[in-house]
Amino acid sequence: MTADKHFHTIIIGAGPGGLACASVLAAKGIDVLVLERSRRVGVKVCAGGVTWSGLARHLPEELIEKAFSRQHIRTGRQQTVIASAEPIISTINRENLGQWMADKAFRCGATISTGTQVTAITAKEVITGSARFTYDFLVGADGSNSLVRRYLQLPVVHLGAGVQYLVPGNFTEMVWHLDPDQFATGYAWIFPHKNCASVGAYANRADMPPKILQEKLHHWMAAHGMHTAGLKAWAATINFDFRGFHFGNRFLVGDAAGLASGLTGEGIYSAVCSGEAVARTIIDPGYQDLPLARLIKKHRQHTLLLRLCGANRLLAKIILESLVAALRVKMIHFNALEMGE
Ligand SMILES: Cc1cc2nc3c(=O)[nH]c(=O)nc-3n(C[C@H](O)[C@H](O)[C@H](O)COP(=O)(O)OP(=O)(O)OC[C@H]3O[C@@H](n4cnc5c(N)ncnc54)[C@H](O)[C@@H]3O)c2cc1C
Repeated sequence: MTADKHFHTIIIGAGPGGLACASVLAAKGIDVLVLERSRRVGVKVCAGGVTWSGLARHLPEELIEKAFSRQHIRTGRQQTVIASAEPIISTINRENLGQWMADKAFRCGATISTGTQVTAITAKEVITGSARFTYDFLVGADGSNSLVRRYLQLPVVHLGAGVQYLVPGNFTEMVWHLDPDQFATGYAWIFPHKNCASVGAYANRADMPPKILQEKLHHWMAAHGMHTAGLKAWAATINFDFRGFHFGNRFLVGDAAGLASGLTGEGIYSAVCSGEAVARTIIDPGYQDLPLARLIKKHRQHTLLLRLCGANRLLAKIILESLVAALRVKMIHFNALEMGE
């Protein structure tokens, strides 16, 4: 059986990582195909928080739902408000972000095929239910449960899990609750959007199984006057098991590469940053991407802190209480918790 068509680069997955990669390649006139299994681009379980140091300052205003220059941080023993002149974190609707990024990639000349699940990969071909395509370069931007990563035989040991409810109402404060007694090394959040808030919790799966995390979230929500009756739970995994991104003519970006933060679960900036870096590496094989190098350094620091906190509950309490105290007295910047520069 012959291939239906040849592309210079095939990207599997039209999340922020795949679309960022496609835009940079297509803008250079490279023949690029993005294959996305969902019919609609941008559908994804996500709290929609984007940091100023990462993506927010590069987005058009109409994509921003709400912007927060104050972050309310609570632990078992203290509460503090971190303030900044810039909005520290803004919220976006993931579907709107996806549509905007897809539109940009399309205008640059990328071909995007939605409703197209990749079912198999070979050394030369990408196979979907109804077609086969050959490639020079292959980019796995297919998220936490990446087929490309499995094809490369890279295991995933370090996985986080997040669960959220979209609670209707007008919420005005962005809240983080770090308390090892409730969420182990993870935390609960309130990220307000236009007519609702993402209220959820994240934790390293090795430190707290997802089912327990969800129960803890229910208790926490009830204690804050929020109830889950009639609301749907949205849950997904976040891969932070980074083992490299460049494997000959194949690459991994974003969650497929394990570049999300294991500490906070932040992964949108990691996806965009690595997607763009991979595109530049495909264009110029000698290219060294500085933002990606910084991201990988941050990723290592977050993983190290997570391991320390995961070693024992008391140590986790000491570290997290000290971290929040250091944020309060401005010994460290909130940016230390973010993946952006
Ligand atoms: C509950 C929760 C809350 C979160 N909140 C935040 C947050 O506030 N801020 C933040 O920065 N990050 C957050 N994240 C993490 C963030 O969503 C991810 O890190 C980010 O989406 C990764 O982008 P990506 O492009 O690598 O992968 P994805 O966004 O997962 O995109 C992968 C794409 O590949 C497609 N795909 C997969 N397999 C195939 C296949 N075989 N064939 C074709 N297509 C395929 C999928 O349909 C998907 O569209 C959260 C995650 C969770 C679970």
